[in-house]
Amino acid sequence: MRIYPQISLATPGDSFRADLVQTLTDGLSRWKDALNAGWIEDDQQGCFGTGRWQALVDAGLTGLVTSEDFGGMDLAAAELAEVLEHLGYICEDAGLGFSLATHLCSTCVPLKTFGSDALREELLPDLVSASRVGAHAITEAHSGSDAFAMKTTAVRDGDAYVISGDKCFISNAPIADICVIYARTHPTKGALGGFSAFAVDCDSPGFTIGKPRKKMGLRTAPMADLYLSDVRVPASRLIGREGQGFVMLDAVMRWEILCVFAIQVGEMRRQFEACLAYAKERQQFGARIGSFQAVSHRIADMHMRLQSARSWLARMVAALEGGGQASLEFAGAKLAISEAHVANAMDAVTLHGGTGYMSETGIEAQMRNAMGGLIYSGTSDIQKNRIAAILGL
Ligand SMILES: Cc1cc2nc3c(=O)[nH]c(=O)nc-3n(C[C@H](O)[C@H](O)[C@H](O)COP(=O)(O)OP(=O)(O)OC[C@H]3O[C@@H](n4cnc5c(N)ncnc54)[C@H](O)[C@@H]3O)c2cc1C
Repeated sequence: MRIYPQISLATPGDSFRADLVQTLTDGLSRWKDALNAGWIEDDQQGCFGTGRWQALVDAGLTGLVTSEDFGGMDLAAAELAEVLEHLGYICEDAGLGFSLATHLCSTCVPLKTFGSDALREELLPDLVSASRVGAHAITEAHSGSDAFAMKTTAVRDGDAYVISGDKCFISNAPIADICVIYARTHPTKGALGGFSAFAVDCDSPGFTIGKPRKKMGLRTAPMADLYLSDVRVPASRLIGREGQGFVMLDAVMRWEILCVFAIQVGEMRRQFEACLAYAKERQQFGARIGSFQAVSHRIADMHMRLQSARSWLARMVAALEGGGQASLEFAGAKLAISEAHVANAMDAVTLHGGTGYMSETGIEAQMRNAMGGLIYSGTSDIQKNRIAAILGL
């Protein structure tokens, strides 16, 4: 039962396929046990859950954004947000959801939106069936927030491009088959026109995947650095036109923010309901802890942040469906949902006392996982810069 008013993610005029969304969410609920099996142990050991990933594949989620022609479902933004919010609600393995969002947004979205017919036919069916897994590589040691200061180059040589450079913090890299590599293709042009994206086979000669990186949270979502040394990539693997890298990444980031943070809103809802139940049940000093004002106010704060996060999700959906100020909506949503998630996750630990601090409960993992959201897809500072710039500062 929902314990806060549900804000509809469907906007007037869109063609929301309620039956399809219901089928997908019902299917996911049936896979709930498989999606959660062993995740706490894997989180502690930093292992990717192949069984849990297979459950996601079997539930059809690797085909959410790809068109029917290639075996997918081509969900609209509102449909996608509903399904992924439900995934976050039932699946406690935040790393698994993050790997899925990476697979969908890093590779399927740019291929579907910008790829040639031949490239889509070559790669999308395997990405839908997950016989190939996707990743994307933008970040380098010296260019994180300033992404287009990247040094990786792609130089045209006959019917191929030769790519060289090192990338870091690449989600899914240890399990990836295809990585979308962003590289400079023009020596002097800036972000607009100077960069391009390529769908590169991870087993190409000269392509090396580093050892898995250990990290604070999202430990079940594998990550590694990449080293590309004169990797020869057929020109047919250029996604879109040469020089379109910036435009492509801007589009990819919007879908990434929608997908990743729809999952997080679902995680926040599950977390909130567990906290409310605990506040009603746990007794100290002969009373339910929820009867102490410090605790009840904490629950009220969590409730307000959750409501706000879901409102921002709905605004993002409306923006993607074409009805809003997209840049402001995406910067605002990314900032608001990620910050709300961290604040709620800290409150969840506090509210559960010592139990919240123990790894076997999974509650402290929620806090570590949420922290990543302040950094990837543009840090909180960068989102504030964007909002301030839109406001004319
Ligand atoms: C869990 C996770 C998954 C990731 N997955 C991927 C992936 O799949 N592919 C990929 O390419 N990258 C990935 N990244 C990398 C991520 O995109 C970068 O970490 C992020 O862009 C920040 O870059 P940075 O780490 O170099 O920090 P920096 O850019 O060096 O920032 C350091 C600090 O300075 C602040 N700062 C920087 N510039 C400004 C400014 N102009 N104004 C105000 N403050 C500023 C930042 O907010 C931050 O607090 C991932 C990162 C994480 C944590």
